[in-house]
Amino acid sequence: LRFTKLRLNGFKSFVDPTDLVIADGLTGVVGPNGCGKSNLLEAMRWVMGETRASAMRGGGMEDVIFAGAATRPARNFAEVALTIDNSERLAPAGFNESDGLEIVRRITRDAGSAYKVNTKDVRARDVQMLFADASTGAHSPALVRQGQIAELINAKPKNRRRILEEAAGISGLYQRRHEAELKLKGTEANLARVDDVIEQLA
Ligand code: ATP
Repeated sequence: LRFTKLRLNGFKSFVDPTDLVIADGLTGVVGPNGCGKSNLLEAMRWVMGETRASAMRGGGMEDVIFAGAATRPARNFAEVALTIDNSERLAPAGFNESDGLEIVRRITRDAGSAYKVNTKDVRARDVQMLFADASTGAHSPALVRQGQIAELINAKPKNRRRILEEAAGISGLYQRRHEAELKLKGTEANLARVDDVIEQLA
């Protein structure tokens, strides 16, 4: 999936609405230490459904909301929108009706996160699925944090395997399998209940 635009509003240090156009080819982001380069990468990971606060260098999920500065009060929400070019119809089934997709995640203090795809409300899981199937997503091996290369070298074999599975694009299958297993369990429980009812009637 080709990302074409990232919009941040109240996310970490990006207190004012900020548009980042992602053109074809290589995009470089330069700036002094602490100006927010890593925050941009985190915004991408977050809008794709990241749920671990630790991956966002924060203690809690609400730490992504602009916390205030000397001259500016804190914000009550943070929002990130990611625009994807889908003219080649590469998005997974269910998301494949239009030429472009806009995924929006918003977190409001004390109210948690809400997600939209092309203005329609969706669940976190739907967004995670969208990217899992496209082998991008919050845990994509294409997003490399500072210090992550050293982590990879020192990683336990099991963790390293997970990274390779992500790279091979098969980790989405695990998520699908897990969902299918849950459905199966639910259906088995329903069947058992039907058996009980039939027994009582007989
Ligand atoms: P480095 O080169 O050190 O990695 P960087 O350009 O990647 O720097 P980031 O680490 O992305 O910078 O940005 C950190 C900045 O974001 C810090 O100034 C920090 O105070 C600010 N910041 C992080 N979270 C919030 C928040 N919730 N509210 C306000 N500012 C925040």
